[in-house]
Amino acid sequence: MNFELSEDQKMLKDMVREFTQKEIEPHVKALEEKHEFPREILRKLAELGLLGITIPPEYEGIKTDFLSLILTLEEISYSSPSIAVIISVHSSLFCYSIFKYGSQKQKEKYLPPAAKGEIIGAFALTEPEAGSDARNLKAKAVKDGDLYILNGTKAWVTSGADAEAFITFALVEVEPGVKKLSSFIIERDFPGVQISKIEEKMGLHSSPTAEIALEDCQVPIENLLGEIGKGAHIAFHCLDCSRIGIGAQAVGISQRALEEAIRYAKQRQAFGKKISEFQAIQFEIAEMSTLIEAGRLLTYRAADLNDKGKPFSKEASMAKLFASEAANKISYLALQIHGGYGYSKEFLIEQIYRDVRVLPIYEGTSEIQRLVISRHLLKDL
Ligand SMILES: Cc1cc2nc3c(=O)[nH]c(=O)nc-3n(C[C@H](O)[C@H](O)[C@H](O)COP(=O)(O)OP(=O)(O)OC[C@H]3O[C@@H](n4cnc5c(N)ncnc54)[C@H](O)[C@@H]3O)c2cc1C
Repeated sequence: MNFELSEDQKMLKDMVREFTQKEIEPHVKALEEKHEFPREILRKLAELGLLGITIPPEYEGIKTDFLSLILTLEEISYSSPSIAVIISVHSSLFCYSIFKYGSQKQKEKYLPPAAKGEIIGAFALTEPEAGSDARNLKAKAVKDGDLYILNGTKAWVTSGADAEAFITFALVEVEPGVKKLSSFIIERDFPGVQISKIEEKMGLHSSPTAEIALEDCQVPIENLLGEIGKGAHIAFHCLDCSRIGIGAQAVGISQRALEEAIRYAKQRQAFGKKISEFQAIQFEIAEMSTLIEAGRLLTYRAADLNDKGKPFSKEASMAKLFASEAANKISYLALQIHGGYGYSKEFLIEQIYRDVRVLPIYEGTSEIQRLVISRHLLKDL
């Protein structure tokens, strides 16, 4: 068992931290206030290779191990959870699914521009009537000559209005009377793609989320991703990977909440003392820090199993479940330590408190993670 990061991982983590402090941190408040997609920052991240972290060099990426992506997401989440989720979806869901399941032609067409940040990718699985119950999706694709014609509505798509391309899922008749989910690469400019709504969200304001209507959307047959009828497998495998990224996002935000709480506790006075001198506050800080370490270890372990080619689905769900629930507890305590000022937009903890609320919801709710974990445990008994 080795708890040390490799030299390459340490160097990458330091490089991302430096970039985040210099190029992201100063812009976060304005981007969040304006609900602005961080296009310019993504361009700079691409220059550093950080949008091509799941893409091999033959397609102009810098493919690293999976843990390095996790470290990157953790560092960026410390300053901007919004930017972290955009990168997570682009890397673990869009690029990775094309790299793993795409044809040679699809890899050559989509991966180099994705690595260079010329296209940002999204992942549109959820529908207005089907989130957790992804096997109940309604979107349909019908073959018509050289095209598939897609109809349906995709909801809650991270980067949906800003991404140049996205992976989506629709039912296709694979034999008479049998419909199975299949996966497609859609370009935003394909005929029939409509951005039908931008969600007004509680947090993550610089990660705009959209609803996309597919109305007789014309998709060339070569844009079918992977085998016909294998969409559910593609979606669930890629989500296993990206759930570890949400664990990392939770750890990065939690670390920031803890540091904000410590900073505040050391300067705020009450009853003639700094509040950090009260044991109740000290115990809360100890509790927060312990939760962060536990979430970090679960997250790194799931990433390490993935890197070693071992099964990691249960561990990915455990990491996501624990770290995202912990982030909510931590941000609650950190805000509490700020007292009334924590309820004010003047203090960062107010934004953190809103941002963390989505962590136990997206990429599979905490209830769904518990289902995944218990199914793994019960199947062998
Ligand atoms: C900010 C944001 C960004 C998102 N980005 C994306 C994206 O990029 N791409 C994408 O495809 N989706 C995205 N989503 C959608 C997200 O993945 C879904 O919201 C999530 O999977 C839950 O689905 P739902 O909202 O339909 O809730 P529902 O499935 O309707 O669940 C409602 C409640 O019932 C519970 N529940 C449901 N089934 C069970 C069960 N079997 N046992 C116990 N409890 C159950 C749930 O845990 C939840 O508490 C995003 C969502 C948000 C909020």
